[in-house]
Amino acid sequence: MGAAMAEEKRAHAMMFPFPCSGHINPTLKLAELLHSRGVHVTFVNTEHNHERLLRTGGARLAGRDGFRFESVPDGLDDEDRAAPDKTVRLYLSLRRSCGPPLVDLARRLGEQEGVPPVTCVVLSGLASFVLGVAEELGVPSFVIWGTSAVGFVCTLRLRQLTQRGYTPLKDESYLTNGYLDTPIDWIAGMPTVRLGDISSFVRTVEPNGFGLRVEEEEANSCARAQGLILNTFDELESDVLGALREEFPRVYTIGPLAAAMHRRVDHGASGLSLWEEDAACMAWLDAQPAVGSVLYVSFGSLAVLSLDQLAEFAWGLAASNRPFLWVVRPGLVAGDRGMEALPADFLAETKGRRFIAEWCAQEQVLRHRAVGGFLTHSGWNSTTESIWAGVPMICAPGFADQYINSRYVCGEWGVGLRLDEQLRREQVVAHIEELMGGGEKGEEMRRSAAEWKALAEAATAPGGSAYENLDKLVEELRLEVP
Ligand code: UDP
Repeated sequence: MGAAMAEEKRAHAMMFPFPCSGHINPTLKLAELLHSRGVHVTFVNTEHNHERLLRTGGARLAGRDGFRFESVPDGLDDEDRAAPDKTVRLYLSLRRSCGPPLVDLARRLGEQEGVPPVTCVVLSGLASFVLGVAEELGVPSFVIWGTSAVGFVCTLRLRQLTQRGYTPLKDESYLTNGYLDTPIDWIAGMPTVRLGDISSFVRTVEPNGFGLRVEEEEANSCARAQGLILNTFDELESDVLGALREEFPRVYTIGPLAAAMHRRVDHGASGLSLWEEDAACMAWLDAQPAVGSVLYVSFGSLAVLSLDQLAEFAWGLAASNRPFLWVVRPGLVAGDRGMEALPADFLAETKGRRFIAEWCAQEQVLRHRAVGGFLTHSGWNSTTESIWAGVPMICAPGFADQYINSRYVCGEWGVGLRLDEQLRREQVVAHIEELMGGGEKGEEMRRSAAEWKALAEAATAPGGSAYENLDKLVEELRLEVP
């Protein structure tokens, strides 16, 4: 009887991420963290991703007491899945068809013996239709937004940028005529930044462009949620968080999530991985004698390089004469190509001092003693993993929040160098030399990186800001239990 009462009183979070790995993985980390703090979790996938997630990273979680996976249909057919605009179709289909099955699911769960009723709903950005599910169920909702705080603020402000006439661009020439350098100095909590740094979504000539509109609507709709959860920590973004909290009083900064997981769940991350991790790259790193000698190169799970960009990176790496580990996943190169697109003479020239992997255990790689620099697309997960590992970066942003992330990495946090948008191999070499060589600037960046690493560790340790915020969030979820 006592145990049954306790079960009924347990907070139960039904979690639904937008179904792509960039949303699923941070949401799954949050799910594990909440579960480790005693919250009952139902993690809902689309049927399309369900099996794959269980196969690649979810198996360890399935069947654990108080943790369940469920699935709902996403409403797409094979033609939709093969279409170039499949993400747009997925977004629209979920909004159209996914609310009622989620409401039904929550109600069914509440009728099962031994399962506490759903007491809150957690969704990721781009899944704002789930706010309506929570409203229908009469429970509070929390949004985990996968970017930095500054990335979130920039997305919110896309609305003002449109209202003030900065976007959409008047015509294509504005992409290259210097207009993107226009200073933006009126966003509270942020230093002056270039218009082009705010987000890739300002780079559009379409009035009411889909990406621009959806992003800003999704971010602004977070105001309907009870709380906003961010994968960052207070010390990293204090000014912008101060301004954000004026508008959103309940912001839970619980990152870096990778560090929080390491500390509280005691194993690496689980997640949806589309590619097999290459374990041999760890042995290759082990065999590198010098601490901090290897440049790790990866552009995340989505970026696509043109053949020209691939050549500039490849020949820059070749000319640097330093060892490097490069993740060239299938599809990284335009035309759905991967490793096979690397020039043969580049492979011959760098033989003996490089490892090319399709995919790797990135968090482990970054924390390996041999790794001393990260050439990255500045995705937020990669950026936080690098900060936590204390590894300085060379930034090559190309999409969404990657521009503002690299602006902060290089300008505010002093842990990186940015490549020009027009990639040149000479600059790739020069940046590698500056970052990894013995010069003063490299030294300074390494010092700053070590300081941020220590702050990230402290934030996620008992008594630290992120540690306390996770506990506060769990407390808040418990308070909601009727
Ligand atoms: N990642 C990985 N192995 C790789 C390359 C990337 O595990 O070989 C992971 C990385 O650790 C990060 C995620 O993929 O968690 C990439 O996320 P990010 O936000 O940096 O970029 P996106 O893929 O969303 O563009």
